[in-house]
Amino acid sequence: MPVVAIIGAQWGDEGKGKVVDLYTEFAQVVVRFGGGSNAGHTLVVDGEKLTLRVIPSGILRRGTLCVLGQGMVIDPEVLLGEMDTLAGKGHLEGRSLAVSRHAHVVLPYHQLVDELRESGPGAIGTTKKGIGPAYEDKAARRGIRFVDLADRPLLRAKLERATAAWKPTIESLGGEPPEPAAIFETLAAQAEKIVPLLADTAALLHDELARGRSLLLEGAQGTLLDLDHGTYPFVTSSSCTVGGAITGSGLSPRRIDRVIGITKAYATRVGAGPFPTELGDEAGNHLRRVGGEYGSVTGRPRRCGWLDLPALRRAVLLNGFDGLALTKLDVLTGMPEVKACVAYEIDGRRHELCPTDAIDRAVPIYETFPGWTEPTDGARTLADLPAPARRYVESVESLAGCPVVLVGVGPAREQTIVLSNPFRRQ
Ligand code: GDP
Repeated sequence: MPVVAIIGAQWGDEGKGKVVDLYTEFAQVVVRFGGGSNAGHTLVVDGEKLTLRVIPSGILRRGTLCVLGQGMVIDPEVLLGEMDTLAGKGHLEGRSLAVSRHAHVVLPYHQLVDELRESGPGAIGTTKKGIGPAYEDKAARRGIRFVDLADRPLLRAKLERATAAWKPTIESLGGEPPEPAAIFETLAAQAEKIVPLLADTAALLHDELARGRSLLLEGAQGTLLDLDHGTYPFVTSSSCTVGGAITGSGLSPRRIDRVIGITKAYATRVGAGPFPTELGDEAGNHLRRVGGEYGSVTGRPRRCGWLDLPALRRAVLLNGFDGLALTKLDVLTGMPEVKACVAYEIDGRRHELCPTDAIDRAVPIYETFPGWTEPTDGARTLADLPAPARRYVESVESLAGCPVVLVGVGPAREQTIVLSNPFRRQ
């Protein structure tokens, strides 16, 4: 009955969806604990591509209980849309879905504010899904929680208060303030389908543990986008490290048995913010083209670069990773040489560990590894990999100071080298 947390070790988009999907074979309960529809986990199952933004990827396995924890901010329209898509494909039958009564509701005015800000000079490259403004409401203690959907008069009053609070901001950004009455009508209709899913999910998870169930905590975004630990202010508005897994689910840190970090064999970043190993040359184009590095929510081309070990070491340190899942190794195939940043130089000093507040001045110090041309996508053991690819994996492991437990060699479930399983006692 282990509890395993899966955490993005970079700037998000590390391929968490596929790893979570693989591990759900061993978990009866899968929990999302933070973020909202700014996440987009792309899965390929039986040749079919599916992107989930709020429902945990574990929903694809029959018998799984999927939980949307209280650390999340959820757009009801997105939730209902995903439920319809999944039901249409037969992926909802035989599964259970529970939404925390304390998760916050993302409303049209959150999205409007996000869009207006992102079209102005202060843009930081959000996904414009209203996530930041919804967390602002949460911190300002005027947010609407899912539990409020069950109390119509209270919901109406809270909507009036929140829309009045946002009015000056929206007007100053040149937007049209929304009408609370129209939002109320839509929410009241959505509530019919959502209220039956609401639960005290913290208590539910403790009950599941008491019954001997295995839990998987599914992270969204990545450590370097964490509100407290990331490259502030170019961060998301939630905690994407293992700390967020605890507050966002209601589990005690003592209940988490293993923490697995997901990192690509290279690096990508979406939106603005420092990215020391970013490539503007043919190598960067190769990573974008072969890796399909376009945002799953926005479709934006992702910024691509070499693996950043000082940043990865910080993620290892902050989350206490027991292991790393190294994804997309296959994307490096065909590159004449592969580089990894092993340290930074900042103001004449060498840094092995990324200082997130000085990362914008970091000059990467690279180590160069020989490339390989033989395809890796058929490899199922380390021995199947071309020798330079194997050496690269071993180097990442020793340079990051964390064992590699899984290597991704393609988007499909089976295109994976499993070295050890965090759900089994080693
Ligand atoms: P997430 O948000 O961390 O789940 O990442 P995304 O879903 O945005 O990006 C992962 C993308 O990479 C998806 O399209 C996956 O199908 C794909 N993917 C995951 N692992 C691998 C891998 O090992 N190799 C390749 N080529 N693609 C992968």
